[in-house]
Amino acid sequence: MNDENEKLIFFCEECGEKNLVDSDIIKEGRVTFKCAHCNYLNNYPVPGFKNKAN
Ligand SMILES: [Zn+2]
Repeated sequence: MNDENEKLIFFCEECGEKNLVDSDIIKEGRVTFKCAHCNYLNNYPVPGFKNKAN
């Protein structure tokens, strides 16, 4: 089992700041993270993201 924790940059929809999040929080093409700058809970689809096939 690989233990890769790739970091991805997502922009907060509320304040527009960059957030560095683990790629493994993406589930079924959707990312959910709390903004480190304004605490807004972002939850939006990530177009083009492909889950790693096993
Ligand atoms: Zn924010």
